[in-house]
Amino acid sequence: MQAIIQAGGAGTRLKSITGDLPKPMVSINGKPILEWQILSLKQSGIIDVTIVISKNGNAIKEYFKDGKDFGIKISYIVEEIPLGTAGGLYFAKEFIKDDFFLVFGDLMLDIDWGRYRDYALSKKALLVPLAHPNSHPFDSDLLVIDESNKILRIDSKHNVRDYYYKNLTNAGIYWCDHNILELIDEPKKIDFEKEILTSTIERGAAFVYKSSEYVKDCGTPYRYYSVENDCKNGIISAKRLSNKQKAIFLDRDGTINVFGDFVRNASKLELIDVAPEAIKLIDESEYLPIVITNQPVIARGETTFDELARIHNKMEVLLGEKNAYLTDIYFCPHHPDSGYEGEVKELKIVCDCRKPKIGMLLKAASEYNIDLSKSWFIGDTSQDVQTGINAGCKTIRVTSGDPRPNKKYENAVPNYVANDILEAVKLILNKK
Ligand SMILES: [Zn+2]
Repeated sequence: MQAIIQAGGAGTRLKSITGDLPKPMVSINGKPILEWQILSLKQSGIIDVTIVISKNGNAIKEYFKDGKDFGIKISYIVEEIPLGTAGGLYFAKEFIKDDFFLVFGDLMLDIDWGRYRDYALSKKALLVPLAHPNSHPFDSDLLVIDESNKILRIDSKHNVRDYYYKNLTNAGIYWCDHNILELIDEPKKIDFEKEILTSTIERGAAFVYKSSEYVKDCGTPYRYYSVENDCKNGIISAKRLSNKQKAIFLDRDGTINVFGDFVRNASKLELIDVAPEAIKLIDESEYLPIVITNQPVIARGETTFDELARIHNKMEVLLGEKNAYLTDIYFCPHHPDSGYEGEVKELKIVCDCRKPKIGMLLKAASEYNIDLSKSWFIGDTSQDVQTGINAGCKTIRVTSGDPRPNKKYENAVPNYVANDILEAVKLILNKK
């Protein structure tokens, strides 16, 4: 397996920190960003790397040389004139033998590349960008996907968004089939996202790899210092998916959004005022915030899968406006008792996912390599507490939601009781 690191860009916004150094050479905790990338690749056995540099990129070549001191082999492509984010790949054909990763050199990251590649190969795709939610979806290009993770289109940040959208953005890392190089047939200025990704989407051959791993650019002094902090605290490597993850599972109704009548359409969803702050604290910690919700309103025919998606998009938009985001949302659309008017017969079943069963947690644990015994469940009902207990998690019951006692689970005793999600999250994270 090989990788190409695109390190040709300028990066003027960081001049106060870097002076005239190319941005990938910015030091984070004593090492250039590019070196962190190389160490991450190497940990997955990728030891054949090509770096694209501009003619001002000598500092990179002088530091890494042929890569021997870093235990890898490095080749260089030097752009005499700027060729955009993809034009330089024209010259990569002589180095690249098979599928490869393309990485932008100003990203601080740590990724389990083997897991990523296995997923990409299973999709039989041409291009698989790594996608994740971010803290500013409102001014980001978004990837619109179907249920198989195929990318349908890019929702440009310049669009007037008078609709609810899913917080899913392109992280700037791509798994590429070797044939992608055929699309770059001359050494001219080409934009990877605008031209190569877009044309691959149009061919139906681009899928996302959703990852909770750490990928952030350090493009402004503020971001730079927060990334350096995360590096010092070990958060960047802890989130690599080859390491066991810790989650804070969150119930939805009464925990994140205001408890009331069932939320049957998006206009009914209203966040609890402290929910964005609580979820942002989780985002900044080593835990993953993951929603686990029973939505029997679908089985009862009171709402549809499409409307539920709109409800969840609204939740993501409202959280995103406050710079908070969820790793993922799992829901159970089933209900066991049939015989009601308007119900959806095939969803009226005894399933493995309806809380307090733990099917949704097991699925999340498999998709994000989560250690359930080091994870927490926060919810407003004893059914939530029972779910957490069944999965081996620690539990907190919040009193912000459903006040009715549930006799069925009256023996489910939580580890703590808190007023709301913010108090609960602060308890877990030991914050005042
Ligand atoms: Zn279910």
